[in-house]
Amino acid sequence: MHIILFGPPGVGKGTQAKILSEKFHIPHISTGDRLRMEIKNETDLGLKAKVLMDAGNLVPDDVMIEMIKKVLISPDCKNGIILDGFPRTVAQAVALKKIFEDLSITPRKVLFIEVSVERIMERLVRRGAMEHRVDDSPETVVKRIAIYNNKTSPVKDYYAQQGLLSSINGEGTVEEVQQRMLTELGVQ
Ligand code: ADP
Repeated sequence: MHIILFGPPGVGKGTQAKILSEKFHIPHISTGDRLRMEIKNETDLGLKAKVLMDAGNLVPDDVMIEMIKKVLISPDCKNGIILDGFPRTVAQAVALKKIFEDLSITPRKVLFIEVSVERIMERLVRRGAMEHRVDDSPETVVKRIAIYNNKTSPVKDYYAQQGLLSSINGEGTVEEVQQRMLTELGVQ
């Protein structure tokens, strides 16, 4: 079961992805977490990504596409994955379609989590204070939301046209949102 979680920063994709991953025994692939690991290990990629991420910018498509290709080819991902943070641009979505086709994978669904902008701001700034994430400062959050609107939100139309998109109301408790996702997936 290959599931893509999609939505603005701060809607709770990571939290929901972890729960789905445990429930279905398939890996949770977060491109943000992978990039933060590269930064921690001070790899070449990490050093380049850090400057972009701290400023709220996206990491270039070719870098991200290469990263996700390597992940999807690995045997652990054969039975499914919960993809969180990719694709973030239409070019990434087009590349992902090709990778899936080459591996004979049919994605089950793209779950789009919707939350109001006010709630997103509130959550991200709180997370920034708790996790010391430089990219969660109020100014950078505003920039990330603008980049989301320009570059990432067209991905929603791309998947809607393919009939893969399901919108999920992301307001409420973690359990309520999880239940809505399971219903969309036809699991419960
Ligand atoms: P959030 O969950 O708040 O959206 P993430 O942890 O998913 O944050 O991502 C943090 C940062 O990592 C992004 O702002 C971006 O700079 C970089 N990043 C993650 N995934 C991608 C991607 N698919 N394409 C480009 N940049 C990415």
